[in-house]
Amino acid sequence: MTNTISFFDQVNTNFDRAAALTDHPCGILEQIKAINSVIHFTFPLKKDDGTIEVMQAWRAEHSQHKLPTKGGIRYAAMVNEDEVKALAALMTYKCAIVDVPFGGAKGGVKISAHEYSVGELERITRRFTFELFKKNFIGPGLDVPAPDFATSSREMAWIADTYATLAPQDINALGCVTAKPVSQGGIQGRTEATGRGVFYALREVCSHGRDMRPLDLSPGLEGKRVVVQGLGNVGYHAAKFLEEEGGAVIVGLVEYEGAISKPDGIHVEDLMAHRKETGSLLDFEGAQNLEHRDAGLELDCDILVPAALENAITMENAPRIKAKIIGEAANGPITADASESLHQRGVTVIPDAYINAGGVTVSYFEWLKNLQHVRFGRMEKRFEENAARQILNAIEHATGTSFSEGEISDFAHGAEEIDLVNSGLEETMIKAYHEIREIKKGRGEDIDLRTASMISAIDKIAIAYLDRGIFP
Ligand code: NAD
Repeated sequence: MTNTISFFDQVNTNFDRAAALTDHPCGILEQIKAINSVIHFTFPLKKDDGTIEVMQAWRAEHSQHKLPTKGGIRYAAMVNEDEVKALAALMTYKCAIVDVPFGGAKGGVKISAHEYSVGELERITRRFTFELFKKNFIGPGLDVPAPDFATSSREMAWIADTYATLAPQDINALGCVTAKPVSQGGIQGRTEATGRGVFYALREVCSHGRDMRPLDLSPGLEGKRVVVQGLGNVGYHAAKFLEEEGGAVIVGLVEYEGAISKPDGIHVEDLMAHRKETGSLLDFEGAQNLEHRDAGLELDCDILVPAALENAITMENAPRIKAKIIGEAANGPITADASESLHQRGVTVIPDAYINAGGVTVSYFEWLKNLQHVRFGRMEKRFEENAARQILNAIEHATGTSFSEGEISDFAHGAEEIDLVNSGLEETMIKAYHEIREIKKGRGEDIDLRTASMISAIDKIAIAYLDRGIFP
């Protein structure tokens, strides 16, 4: 059976399931669910060969209960209005779950990015920014894009530069977009933030022995067998941190061109080097090429991380999925009905709106940095180091011991921007998971983590409306 309901309807199905378990007034629930604004653009691209192609693009602002709205811009052939609405709604819930004070938005241009030259992509990005600017759909206090599928810090730098040119009087212009290169007002750690957040989330989920027991798994990430689908920004970094920092064993990888399996573990950096050299992950030394790409999703493993696009797991393949835990690193990789059937089978699905929130969390830090006009750690780093050195000196004097320079510099290490970013991200992912887990525990074991995380989001957004007296 293939999935027939639209992506936005699926997000709303998940919303309705959770909303029914809250006691907020219907009007507030309807307002939370509704898309506030959506805009469709067409604009011309002059291609390198001189021909003109008409571009189709969208931006949806799902909720302005907090401003700015925030969400990525993707370049993909299947981008459409329903998709950006679904992704914008997910952004609203995601921001609420991890206490990032933004509403949700999303944008997209309907192109296969690899079919365009860098010059053409730059013209598309700059023109799209201009269109957003004309319609008041971009600005540090209005709506702040970020990367998504097939866009990266390069496109974000073009957006920031175009916006700054159009708004030269805006002293906060750099805050109009996040995930910029560090040299253009970006922040250390943003590129890898979503994948790092996926790692922190999975580590936290697996740390609860009580939750691992019904899955017949031991607590902790160490030795867990992981399959990752999509080796782009999110999937590559998630796989890397799961392997390098979590001690997990990457037993399978799935990409556009195929899938491989290697039960004794794939070293992610070696595989990336192989893919760079050969243009494919297939034929990696010691690994087996699978018959077809999607067979990779059905490999025997403990944790499956779909990190490509939506609808990777539907009612068609859900019965064949063997993973005990699925971390939805992509947005919407499991259809609503498939997710429910996996839950009924006892599979723990860690929902997208929580597990991939690391990107928007660090984007929030970047936006704060842009508004503050100062790098995190600049004011306190030396002060902290000096204070720690004084404590060590006092201990040396009082006890007669003497510390080596190595010991002193280990202890008296003032926080750099990257330390603060990763610490803020780790705290965010852990705290949000505890909130979701408590909701699930409080409601009984029959609700899944998706419903629990949606209840968390709905409660927080409803309070934001009620506290403003909008719905007395
Ligand atoms: P990306 O373009 O960097 O990577 C996507 C990868 O998936 C590419 O390598 C592509 O070849 C691969 N892919 C595409 N179709 C595939 C298929 N059918 N099977 C296997 N691999 C396939 O994109 P990204 O930024 O990593 O985003 C991936 C997902 O994560 C999207 O759903 C996006 O919305 C979500 N997400 C991204 C961020 C972020 O910070 N970039 C944040 C939150 C969520």
